[in-house]
Amino acid sequence: MKNAYLQSVLETVKKRNPAEPEFIQAVTEVLETLEPVIERRPDLVAANVMERIVEPDRQIIFRVPWVDDKGNIQVNRGYRIQFNDAIGPYKGGLRLHPSVNLSIIKFLGFEQIFKNSLTTLPMGGAKGGSDFDPKGKSDNEIMRFCQSFINELYRHIGKDIDVPAGDIGVGGREIGYMFGQYKKLTGEWSGILTGKGIPYGGSLARTEATGYGLCYFTDEMLRANGKSFEGQTVVISGSGNVAIYALQKATQLGAKVVAMSDSNGYIYDPNGVDFAAVKQLKEVERKRIKEYVATHPQAEYHEGCSGIWTIPCDIALPCATQNEINKESAEILAKNGCYCVSEGANMPSTPEAIEVYFANKMLYGPAKAANAGGVATSGLEMCQNSARLSWTFEEVDGKLHGIMKSIFAACDAASKEYGMPGNYMAGANIAGFLKVAESMKAQGCV
Ligand code: NDP
Repeated sequence: MKNAYLQSVLETVKKRNPAEPEFIQAVTEVLETLEPVIERRPDLVAANVMERIVEPDRQIIFRVPWVDDKGNIQVNRGYRIQFNDAIGPYKGGLRLHPSVNLSIIKFLGFEQIFKNSLTTLPMGGAKGGSDFDPKGKSDNEIMRFCQSFINELYRHIGKDIDVPAGDIGVGGREIGYMFGQYKKLTGEWSGILTGKGIPYGGSLARTEATGYGLCYFTDEMLRANGKSFEGQTVVISGSGNVAIYALQKATQLGAKVVAMSDSNGYIYDPNGVDFAAVKQLKEVERKRIKEYVATHPQAEYHEGCSGIWTIPCDIALPCATQNEINKESAEILAKNGCYCVSEGANMPSTPEAIEVYFANKMLYGPAKAANAGGVATSGLEMCQNSARLSWTFEEVDGKLHGIMKSIFAACDAASKEYGMPGNYMAGANIAGFLKVAESMKAQGCV
């Protein structure tokens, strides 16, 4: 990065947040791609937009005490980072995973600013969660944890202030418990969380939205480059919410998905992974992916999750977690003929892996554009709650499809306008940034 202003912003971020590697990684990636914008826009430098945008509006960290089934009191740490509300109320998911810390929530909140801007809907950026591990917990333990989490968080959120949603470890069950506790504490029914159940204000197609949206975005990117999903071999990491519905949509679009994983290992099914079986296993029975081979004898199970990237494929859709594809895995993908990586998870590729994609002229769909379908549909859930309406599955899916097409178009146009055609990472950062930066400048120094 040559620009002195951007260099000094990055140095300040590093000094202020020394123990936050994921946050620094996310900021570095964005600042590097914004260099041509900053050179054309001295007004944004004069308004010091960059130094302001990398500092969260506020960071809320709190104790979450809860009682386990044996009667012991457990304590976890809760987070909500309200990063930027220049274009709308804070919006972003809640993650429950033992790896959660301030750095991870801040990187996710920072990315969320640009992702939400790309959706074309008025939503600011935020993220939250806890280092609570839902694995192996009973339903009652999950409920008590979620209630305690909301006992503190409720005072910081509101339908026009901050509207959290799901992420890793937070699905319909957890959102239900949190929503119930918010209603109990405030005596108010309002759409303060998205990803709710259909009978109580949820949106049809929200469950499917991130995975479907990923495939809609990827399809646009493939078509713009003379290709399509038809007849292609696809590898999808993870087997959670995003991965399951990416599997369904990629299959509907004519691809064969041959592998999926969880944090223990991966399955390879040469006949194509069976959507109904994975959905039953993960959503209903809440079992490990290795159980798949018990009902599908032609499939293989291998321990260790990074081995999934050694399976030859045309298209890779990482849908598990951050930094899951490193340089070595990216090189193996390229060597095996993979020509497209499109990200369902947030920041699943390390910076070195991204360099490998560009060096090999692979198509690269960055997370903040490719996985924005989830939050876009959360925005549509907010619209339905405000209007006291419920749209049909087809209506929501149709709007989602239109939004993903316009996100691709915005990334493509910005990449061309700033002299980097085909670099959709730069395009996404620039298009997402400009809307927020103009709003911050217009609203003055606040
Ligand atoms: P889920 O909790 O439903 O599923 C996560 C999946 O990833 C599971 O299969 C899990 O395996 C696996 N996983 C988690 N951590 C690791 C790890 N360290 N190594 C390998 N595998 C791991 O989460 P989602 O599907 O909702 O989220 C997946 C990704 O997509 C995240 O990066 C999230 O931020 C992103 N995302 C999600 C959106 C949504 O709408 N849900 C929206 C936009 C982005 P295991 O069961 O073993 O933990």
